[in-house]
Amino acid sequence: MRGNAAAHELIAPGNLAAVLEVIASAPGQWTPIAGGTELIVAFAAGRLSAKKLISLWDVPELRFITSTPNSIIIGAGATFSDIRAYSAIQQVFPLLSKASSWIGAITNQSRATLGGNLVNGSPAADSSPALLVYDAEIELVSIRGSRRIPYADFHTGYKQNAMTADELLYAVHLPRRFAQHRQYIRKVGTRRAMAISKVALAATSLLRDGIVTEIRLAAASLAPFPARLHKTEATLASRAITPKLIQEARDTLLNEAQPIDDIRSTAEYRKCVGANLLEEFLLELGRKLDPQ
Ligand SMILES: Cc1cc2nc3c(=O)[nH]c(=O)nc-3n(C[C@H](O)[C@H](O)[C@H](O)COP(=O)(O)OP(=O)(O)OC[C@H]3O[C@@H](n4cnc5c(N)ncnc54)[C@H](O)[C@@H]3O)c2cc1C
Repeated sequence: MRGNAAAHELIAPGNLAAVLEVIASAPGQWTPIAGGTELIVAFAAGRLSAKKLISLWDVPELRFITSTPNSIIIGAGATFSDIRAYSAIQQVFPLLSKASSWIGAITNQSRATLGGNLVNGSPAADSSPALLVYDAEIELVSIRGSRRIPYADFHTGYKQNAMTADELLYAVHLPRRFAQHRQYIRKVGTRRAMAISKVALAATSLLRDGIVTEIRLAAASLAPFPARLHKTEATLASRAITPKLIQEARDTLLNEAQPIDDIRSTAEYRKCVGANLLEEFLLELGRKLDPQ
């Protein structure tokens, strides 16, 4: 059954300070709405429980991308079209640029915001694996000020996060220190485009003399929320890529992954695809070491 617009209130203060004041005056009462590509779908299906909505779409302070010598900072209100169009992101953080191209069609990408993708907290969120392997930090803001936390600490459970009731997600900070890293990202869905992922894997790795000196692996849909695969990373750390190690890493991932069964896939299938993606990445790493 469709939602009834008359049952909801929507206000649009139009600037960040005013939005934060409203939220702080009644913590937990107002639900932010940015692009609305999650919330309006819920409304249309008659499942939007939030009655009081406060618009972030027309808040200019949230829609920005800034480049500094040490980082790129993306405002929570930047859309995935904004992110795709930003050439420094294409060059320095190609995994995020690629993931942004997966988020529905162009129409969706022109409304869908980075903040909405992260706060919605789907285990399948496409931007998450790239942000995790780039060691992104999240900046939260409230009338009390702002604070930064590692993105890896943001999701605390299925659709749960570390924000307090008076906070908004303000920005994502990406440190510029991955230029030398081998980078990988792949999404597996029902079809090649316009599909929510069954599984996605992102990786950044640094090798010296054939030995893995740094590795970060992060997955979508291999746990109740997007997360790094720390045990699998530990299996690979300080070792040379060999067929035996690849098999060991596959086995570790199969034990570490805790996907859910849902309408898009089974947990068993997700684990199997996750291990195959890992193997693909490791074979690529190994091949690049081969002088031929
Ligand atoms: C046709 C279609 C295809 C899609 N395909 C994909 C896909 O392939 N991959 C994918 O990952 N997603 C996909 N999505 C989901 C959706 O587009 C994304 O999750 C999008 O990034 C959500 O952003 P939004 O601004 O529209 O969020 P909204 O719907 O406005 O909000 C989502 C949630 O975030 C909260 N929120 C938003 N901004 C903030 C903020 N700054 N601070 C605090 N809370 C905030 C809201 O309160 C709400 O709980 C698709 C959606 C549609 C309709």
